[in-house]
Amino acid sequence: MKELKEGIHPKYYQTVIKCACGATYETGSTKEKINVEICSNCHPFFTGKQKLVDTGGRVDRFKKRFGISD
Ligand SMILES: [Zn+2]
Repeated sequence: MKELKEGIHPKYYQTVIKCACGATYETGSTKEKINVEICSNCHPFFTGKQKLVDTGGRVDRFKKRFGISD
């Protein structure tokens, strides 16, 4: 019975997660490779800077000032 249980266990890899920004992270996973488009290094939600929100506000003010509308 022990052998049967081990047989259905998913293989566990030492996985490298690679982000589109170039950052890589090592973790344990059942997937051999993981590619992500955004990570804690480049996402404002994780960095806490909220860069994207600030930039959006500035763009809106810029548009209003110069009468530009979408
Ligand atoms: Zn990233």
